[in-house]
Amino acid sequence: MLLSWLLASTDERPDAIRIDDRAVSWVELRRLAAAVADDLRGVDRVAVDATASLPTVVGVVGALLAGSAVVPVPPDAGPMEREHILRDSAAGAMLVSADDERRDTPEGLPLIRIDLARLSDTSHPEPDPAGIALILYTSGTTGAPKGVTLSRRAIAACLDGLAAAWEWTPEDLLVHGLPLFHVHGLVLGVLGPLRVGGRLHHVGQPRPERYAAANGSLYFGVPTIWSRVAADTTSARALRAARLLVSGSAALPTTVFADLAGLTGHQIVERYGMTETLITVSASAAGPRRPGAVGLPLPGVRTRVVDERGRSVPTDGVAIGELEVCGPTLFDGYLKRPDADAAARTADGWFRTGDVATIGPDGWHRIVGRAATDLIKSGGYRIGAGEVEDALLAHPGVREAAVVGTPHPDLGQQVTAYVVGDGIHEAELIDFVARQLSTHKRPRQVRLVEALPRNALGKVQKSRLTAE
Ligand code: ATP
Ligand code: MG
Repeated sequence: MLLSWLLASTDERPDAIRIDDRAVSWVELRRLAAAVADDLRGVDRVAVDATASLPTVVGVVGALLAGSAVVPVPPDAGPMEREHILRDSAAGAMLVSADDERRDTPEGLPLIRIDLARLSDTSHPEPDPAGIALILYTSGTTGAPKGVTLSRRAIAACLDGLAAAWEWTPEDLLVHGLPLFHVHGLVLGVLGPLRVGGRLHHVGQPRPERYAAANGSLYFGVPTIWSRVAADTTSARALRAARLLVSGSAALPTTVFADLAGLTGHQIVERYGMTETLITVSASAAGPRRPGAVGLPLPGVRTRVVDERGRSVPTDGVAIGELEVCGPTLFDGYLKRPDADAAARTADGWFRTGDVATIGPDGWHRIVGRAATDLIKSGGYRIGAGEVEDALLAHPGVREAAVVGTPHPDLGQQVTAYVVGDGIHEAELIDFVARQLSTHKRPRQVRLVEALPRNALGKVQKSRLTAE
């Protein structure tokens, strides 16, 4: 059962969950959530304002207790994005903090208030594990966000796999500052502590000095956060006392891996997943870590890398193809998108990730990038954008880099680099890459830009780069 640990806990220590400058014990959280669940009886799907705050955590747990599927709404969603999420998910009501003075949402959904002064001792039996716990929207990196339905069972399987791989226990204090409307911040970052029993300190904005001051044992971050930590040597050194640092949601540049290892003494654990599959591949606490690689399949997960015809490619660490996964953590389906559902599944029930990967003889996975934007086909070669990005980032003047394929009359595509940095000269940078990688991988074009377009998790939206 997803919430069995929370439902059984008698722990009254006051700081099980600290967020938004407020803290609660496990017992208090259960009683606050029970009061929300009392209000939710009969609501099948409920939207939750996903501001990183205690009311949000209470609202999500309350809805899970009531058996309502939770639809987190990004607090900074524009009116169109909000409307899409609320209508597409067919939420029947929206949970908001008690100080919200509106009566309903602009879309006409009734509001249910989360009142932190109300405790209830109703004992809500746990709903069917096959039921939908969450409807999460994908990050929208490659197109419009898609609604993904995740069962209680799939979430529990994912968290148990991660707890085993990362040796995550009730002794841990997890620290992060991730948004609460995606898998990373909400499933791993909030439901993880709830299932494992370890404490959580959400630091609000994920600034390096806040990570450093929080004194955690386990830290989660996306690559943009880790690269900021690596640039703040004082904060980074304060993380020496931690047990495990984990990165995910996008590829961690190898330069950041190396800088953090030097400063913190920790080789960061990288893991890979998607909204649709939850986390499927990870390095482990006990095992080795490798820069640029995401590790081994988690317990119960199977993976394969296939060519265009669906045949497995050799597991030699060199052959690339699309990564397919299968196992207990997979989603039930996309909301109202039977086309996307059918396209994403193979006849034998595997999920097509749309990511390009290699698997080595020892089972280690490397994510080359997304089939749609990160695999550049140039003059008969297949070039992974990530490798070129890593080579660019090794230049001292380069702060950020995104590499894409742009149309070229002879080559089909050419390697084009978008770079943020200081004192950079195009020709010198191209030479710099050419000294590290084979000739066909060097960019033919370098564009200096002020910033890269990124979404809430800091992922570069490459389709927006080439559209501009
Ligand atoms: P959309 O599906 O709407 O375009 P998205 O794919 O970014 O957006 P998510 O489900 O949040 O939405 O992200 C999953 C994707 O993130 C994966 O398919 C993969 O491309 C990328 N990703 C996650 N972890 C890693 C990692 N460790 N290394 C490289 N890529 C990663
Ligand atoms: Mg996706």
